[in-house]
Amino acid sequence: MTKAKPLTLESDIQYLKGIGPKKAILFHRLGIYTIEDLLYHLPYRYWNLKEIKKIKDCKVGNEVTIEGKILLVGERESKTKGNIIEIIISDGSDYLKCLWFNRPDLRYKFQRNQTIVVSGKIDFYKQKEMVNPYYEILDEDNNKKIYAGTIIPLYPLTEKLSNWDIRRAVKQALEKTYHLIEEDLPESILQKYSFFSKREAIKKIHFPEDLKEAERAKKRLAYGELFYFELILALNKKRYEELKASPILKTDGELTKKFLESLHFQLTPSQIKVIKEIEEDLKKGKSMTRLLQGDVGSGKTVVALYTSLIAIENGYQVAFMAPTEILAEQHFFNWYKELLKLKVNCALLTSSVNKKEKEKIYLKIRTGEIQLVFGTHALLESDVIFKNLGLVIVDEQHRFGVMQRAKLLLKGNNPHFLVMTATPIPRTLSYILYGDLDISTISEKPPGRGRVITKLISEKAREKLIEKIRKAVLAGNQVYWVCPIIEESEKLSLRAAKKVYEEIKNTFPDLKVALIHGRIKSEERMRIMEEFKKGNIQILVTTTVIEVGVDIPNASIMVIEHPERFGLAQLHQLRGRIGRGKKDSYCFLILPKTNDEKVLLRLTYFVKNDDGFYLSEKDLELRGPGEFFGTRQHGLPEFKIADLIKDKDLLLKAKEDAFKIIEEDPNLIKFENRRLKENLLKRFSDKVELARVI
Ligand code: ADP
Ligand code: MG
Repeated sequence: MTKAKPLTLESDIQYLKGIGPKKAILFHRLGIYTIEDLLYHLPYRYWNLKEIKKIKDCKVGNEVTIEGKILLVGERESKTKGNIIEIIISDGSDYLKCLWFNRPDLRYKFQRNQTIVVSGKIDFYKQKEMVNPYYEILDEDNNKKIYAGTIIPLYPLTEKLSNWDIRRAVKQALEKTYHLIEEDLPESILQKYSFFSKREAIKKIHFPEDLKEAERAKKRLAYGELFYFELILALNKKRYEELKASPILKTDGELTKKFLESLHFQLTPSQIKVIKEIEEDLKKGKSMTRLLQGDVGSGKTVVALYTSLIAIENGYQVAFMAPTEILAEQHFFNWYKELLKLKVNCALLTSSVNKKEKEKIYLKIRTGEIQLVFGTHALLESDVIFKNLGLVIVDEQHRFGVMQRAKLLLKGNNPHFLVMTATPIPRTLSYILYGDLDISTISEKPPGRGRVITKLISEKAREKLIEKIRKAVLAGNQVYWVCPIIEESEKLSLRAAKKVYEEIKNTFPDLKVALIHGRIKSEERMRIMEEFKKGNIQILVTTTVIEVGVDIPNASIMVIEHPERFGLAQLHQLRGRIGRGKKDSYCFLILPKTNDEKVLLRLTYFVKNDDGFYLSEKDLELRGPGEFFGTRQHGLPEFKIADLIKDKDLLLKAKEDAFKIIEEDPNLIKFENRRLKENLLKRFSDKVELARVI
C-alpha cells in the first residue's frame, strides 16, 4: 500500500474516509466527483434545530421542529393512499403522530425509544400530526453532538445516500482542504460589499452559526458566479470594440435610397432612430455588436435589410440566420425579387436544400457572387466559407446559443453583428444574455394596424366559434388554427394537427384548408405558405412551426387549441402572427375544462395584455427560471448558486463591477487583477471567444 497523498480540491471523493469506490458511485449520481464538487454541493434549505418547539405549544399550520422519543411504530395499508408508516412520538409535553405515505422502507428504520427530530407542518386529524416530515434519528453519539442546537443544512440527495453521509463528507473535506480554497474576487470587491472570503463563505454555507450567516455566504458565492460570467461578457465586448480591422462602411449609398423608395410604406420614427444608431456604429471602424429589440410585428426585418444593403454597397457579404426553416424561407421569398431589382444576389441555405444545390451555393458564397445569404443553422457548416463577410444578422436571436452566435462571427474578418429579438426574455435577464451587446429598441408598431382581441372560450363554445369563423372567412379573412402536436398519441389526449385538419376540412367543405407542420417537406411547405400568402388558402392548420417571424398581414384570426400547453412568451409569439394588417384581429383560445389555477392565471394575463415585455416577466415569475428556460434553448448559462429572480440586484451589481474593471484594465494586467485572469483561463478557457480575448 502506498501512503495516502494529502487531499487537494481536485482529489477524487473516494479518498475521503468512509467513502471508498462503492459509495463514491452514489456521489457521482449527484454530479460530485471531486472534493471541490462536494464543497459546491450546496444545501437547498436549512433546518433550524436551535428552535426546537414543545409539541403542546405548536399550532396547526406552524412549520416546526420537534425532538422526542418514539413510542409506537406502525404500518397499515389504505385503499386509496397505499402503504402508510405511522409513528407516535412524545417530548413530555404532548404526543405527535407522524405519517409517511408509500415509504415501506421506513418500517425498519424506526424503533421504539429512539430519539428522533422531525420537521414539518403541524396538521390535525383527531390529534396533532405531521405528514411526510423531514426526520433525523439521533441514535449515534456523534450525531447528537453535531446536531444538538445547530443549523442543519439539507442537501439534495439520491437513493441510499443520506443527508448525514453528505454532511459527514463535507465536514471532512473542509477540514482537509480549507486552506487550499483560493480567493477568487478582488480585495476591493470583498471590501465594497463586506463579503466573506471565499473560504469563509464555503465553510459558512455548510456550517452556519445562524440562518443570516448562511444567507450571507450564499450571496457571496452567487455574486462570484455572476461576476465571472459578466466578466466574460465585458471582455467579449471590449475585444469587439477594439478590433481595428472591422470594415468601415459608408452609409449614404444609392442602394438604401432605392430600397426605401421601393417600400410601400414610410419607416416609423423608431425604425429611423434605430437605423441611425446602426449607421453610427458602422462608420466607427469598430465592429458593431448591436441587439435590435422590438415586439412582434414592430418591423425589425426592414431595418435588417437596410443594414444589409449598406454592407453590400460597400462590397461585403451578409449572412442572415433564422432559427427555423420556415422563417428563413419566408425571408428569402419575401425579399429576393425586390433585392434582384436592386441587382443584389441572394440565396437560401437550409438543411432542406439538396446537396447539388448546396454545392452550388457554397461555391457562389466562396467567390463572392452571392451577396446576401438567408439561412438556418446550415450557415454554420464548415463548407460555408465567405469571400468577404462583413455583416452577420441573427433573427430571433434568443433561439440560438452564445456559441452558435460566435461560430458564425468567426466566418468573417470581424464582421459587424446585428441580432434581433422580439424580447420574450424579460428585461432584467437581457442583462445576462445580452450584456455584451449595445441595445436599440423599436418602441412602436407601424401605424394603421388593427387591434388584436383575445378571447378565452370553453370547449362548449366550439360550435359557435366555428360559425363565427365561417362568416369571417367568407368576408375575406384568413385563419391560423394552431395545435400543440402533429399526430395523436396515446400518452397525451390532445387535439393533434392532423386530426383537426380532417375535422376542419369536413366542417368547411367549401373552403380551402391546408395543413402545415415540421415534418412536411420543405418544398411543399414553401408552396403552402406561398398559397396562404396569396390568399388561396383560407384556413391553415398548423403546429408551432409558424411561431416565430411568419408575416402574413391578411391573416387576422388565430385559433389556439390547448392554450394550457403553451407558456406566456410562446403564446405571445404565436399571437404576433396576427394583427399585422389594418383590420382588427381575433385570437381565440379553446381551453379544455381545467381546475389548474396557474393555467387560468397565465391565460388571464394573456387575454388582458398585449405587451411582450410585460408578459415575459410574468411568464418567468409564474413558471420560475427552471421551467422558463428549460423549455427551450436560450443560450443562457446555468448558474449553480445564483437565482436569476431572487438575485436580480446582485446581478446588476456584478455587471457594473465587472464592466468597470474591464473598462479600466481591458487586458487584466494590473497586479490586483492577476487573480481574475488566472481564474478565467483556468475555469473558462474552453470558451471559443475567451481564448481570443486574453
Ligand atoms: P418583426 O419585428 O416581428 O420581425 P416584421 O419585420 O416581420 O416584424 O414586420 C411586420 C410587418 O410590418 C411586415 O409586413 C412589414 O412589411 C411591415 N412593416 C414594417 N415596417 C413598416 C412600416 N414602417 N409601416 C408599415 N408597415 C411596416
Ligand atoms: Mg421578425
